[in-house]
Amino acid sequence: MDAKVPSSAIPEAVQILQHGGLVAFPTETVYGLGADARNAAAVRKIFAAKGRPASNPLIVHIASFSQIASCAEIGRSFSPKLVGDRLNKLSALWPGPLSVVLPAHPSIAQEVCAGGSTVAVRIPRHPVALELLQAFGGPVAAPSANPSNYVSPTTASHVREGLGSSVGLILDGGPCHVGLESTVLSLLEQTPRVLRPGAVTRAELSLVLGCEIAGPSPGDAPSGAPLLSPGLLEKHYSPRTPVVLLPALSGASALPQQRIGAILFSPRRLPFAPTALKILSPSGDLAAVAAQLFAALRELDDGSLDLIVADTCEPAGLGEAIMDRLLRASRR
Ligand code: AMP
Ligand code: MG
Repeated sequence: MDAKVPSSAIPEAVQILQHGGLVAFPTETVYGLGADARNAAAVRKIFAAKGRPASNPLIVHIASFSQIASCAEIGRSFSPKLVGDRLNKLSALWPGPLSVVLPAHPSIAQEVCAGGSTVAVRIPRHPVALELLQAFGGPVAAPSANPSNYVSPTTASHVREGLGSSVGLILDGGPCHVGLESTVLSLLEQTPRVLRPGAVTRAELSLVLGCEIAGPSPGDAPSGAPLLSPGLLEKHYSPRTPVVLLPALSGASALPQQRIGAILFSPRRLPFAPTALKILSPSGDLAAVAAQLFAALRELDDGSLDLIVADTCEPAGLGEAIMDRLLRASRR
């Protein structure tokens, strides 16, 4: 399926959603594969196209704050008043790369919630995503538009390469500016909890909410683990080529014989000569690193390399999300 220039293609995209089909669209984080979140058959097509396990819930995308009431039931929260207050405060971060987990509204398809009773909701910041969501007028369930477990797509060509004919229409909005999936924040407990780190950092959330923010508990999707303990992490976001983090390489003498692709966050000397080299920023700027990380992983994953070696950073601020994705990519 060809990617289409947005504005002229929005009415066609809305028609496809209304008829229970799939539309891939750009957001500021990564490209999403969208379906009407109220239509169970449509949502099942997302899981089929991605090969995604039914146990992995989807994020629901809306155009405006007032639409939350049609996706979530704040009244079923542990404290409706407190959660309502917190949502109002968080609205300062929307549109943006933040998804909030709340008790689900019964109109949202069970499949979206992976059989559970909660739903993740967000308002994306990309103009094409907002135009589509406004024109459709309802909630759109959309995970990343890639085969399950592979690196998320940050361009329309990534979507076409990975999903191709299983998508009704791909809206091309250019490369994604943030480049990492949204921060997922659970408001289901007294202490709000980050389930997946993203570009909205824990420090920012703490400032906006005026309270402590917890990290993932052992039972959640793991993230924010101490550096170089990828054994604890779920494998995800993975290229086919093995990924190793640079600090884990020291003293590995077999390396020079291999074809190695290297991803550096800034220019520096390497203890080996890489076959291919990607330098993501001249100054190690983490926003630039995040924006280009997935495209670099994909480019080096073309089948001709034995190994991808990736740089690391402090797992704090945006670095927490970057290291979360790299640790998962390096898990075998
Ligand atoms: P994706 O957009 O493909 O990265 O997938 C959406 C992600 O959002 C899931 O993998 C979960 O981490 C998170 N998510 C979605 N819905 C929920 C929920 N109800 N509770 C907890 N996490 C969720
Ligand atoms: Mg995904």
